[in-house]
Amino acid sequence: MSDDDTLIQRDRRHVWHPFTQEATAPDPVAIRSGEGAVLHGEDGRDYLDLISSWWVNLHGHGHPYIAKAIADQAMTLEQVIFAGFTHRPAVDLATRIAALLPGDLDRVFFSDDGSTAVEVALKMARQAAANRGEAERRRFIAFEGGYHGDTVGAMSAGDGFFDAFEGMLFQVDRLPYPATWEGDEEVEAKEAASLEALDALLDAHGRETAGLIVEPLIQGAAGMRMCRPEFLRAVAERVRAAGALVIFDEVMTGFGRTGALFACLKAEVQPDVICLSKGLTGGCMPMSLTVCREGVYQAFLGETFDQALAHGHSFTANPIACRASLASLDLLLADDMAGRWAAIEALHRERLAGLGQKATRHRVTGTIAAIDVAGEGAGSGYSAPVGPKLKAFFLEKGLLIRPLGNVVYLLPPYCITEAQLNQAYDAIDEALDRVV
Ligand code: PLP
Repeated sequence: MSDDDTLIQRDRRHVWHPFTQEATAPDPVAIRSGEGAVLHGEDGRDYLDLISSWWVNLHGHGHPYIAKAIADQAMTLEQVIFAGFTHRPAVDLATRIAALLPGDLDRVFFSDDGSTAVEVALKMARQAAANRGEAERRRFIAFEGGYHGDTVGAMSAGDGFFDAFEGMLFQVDRLPYPATWEGDEEVEAKEAASLEALDALLDAHGRETAGLIVEPLIQGAAGMRMCRPEFLRAVAERVRAAGALVIFDEVMTGFGRTGALFACLKAEVQPDVICLSKGLTGGCMPMSLTVCREGVYQAFLGETFDQALAHGHSFTANPIACRASLASLDLLLADDMAGRWAAIEALHRERLAGLGQKATRHRVTGTIAAIDVAGEGAGSGYSAPVGPKLKAFFLEKGLLIRPLGNVVYLLPPYCITEAQLNQAYDAIDEALDRVV
């Protein structure tokens, strides 16, 4: 028995993997190390990471600058309680994030992952209204196909996956999402229908609505479904006029993915609350932020504790994760970064145009590109039969591409080279020929 066998066997004996049907899933791939966009397997094979390891990695694996910041901080202060205490890495990070976000998105609340950033946002919206004497604002609006994480509030705001938890989740008002793509002639009609539904909801329940939550510009887990900035602007305007908060879940879209530092900057919409995670630490440490406008924060100030936000986690604002984030921001704000995003986007557009007829609904926003795979037996939706076949085909070729059902997308780290990205497109081309 080789070492590899033992590792996988022990994994199968003791480990429970996320979002995995363990009864039917193939053995996981054991990764020993990573460098740039490449993951080195325990089996001696290399895997090109074209999904940034679940959309988190920005600058490549094992980046020495971030690794050094983490090591330095671990030797200085690894963790300290964040109620009644503070530390320089957290204050520096909050200061820098507030400066990068638009308007008065100035108050930074720390938590541990995207889901908890969303929980905090929902709780902030509800309690801010109650603290202002509008306790009837208890409802939330979200979009069909939205995904906001796996904790109870995030699941409630999300759509799909969660049938087993019916009864645990709270009711959310759901709007149609006007997903669009290149050459879509119905986009305006879809947007109008969605806005009409929003108007009707706000007419009926505007005074009872605490907030609307949306993944701005791109719904990730639903299949990289993209919408137009003007639609987001129209939504935000209506929600704000009704006195409710606009919550942007930028857990996936933040830190350059859309070709701008944040989707809200690209769309030119200022949300009231924004959720950030994934790329925050460059993808090296788990941490998240819920950042709100000053007015939301002010609603929590008072003489008694019951007006305070009763939320916190043991590792809130972990100093090592804060230092990783600061180091990642240094790299992200380097002179050539916007040029890299633009180069990745240009290559996406060029190569998508060359894919055959089985690649439909071409869409690109910044560094993210996606297609729907059409063809006999391809199916559609998250459980489309073609998904696992494509995944296996790509893995065999040493490519980490993880289709969402019949949606093939690329979301690479920004250090990806032109040759590496071309290699991925060559494989997609071949897969459309041979697998579909
Ligand atoms: N929100 C969005 C838009 C996401 O894409 C995700 C994860 O994919 C989450 C929230 C949940 O983040 P996490 O998996 O870190 O809890």
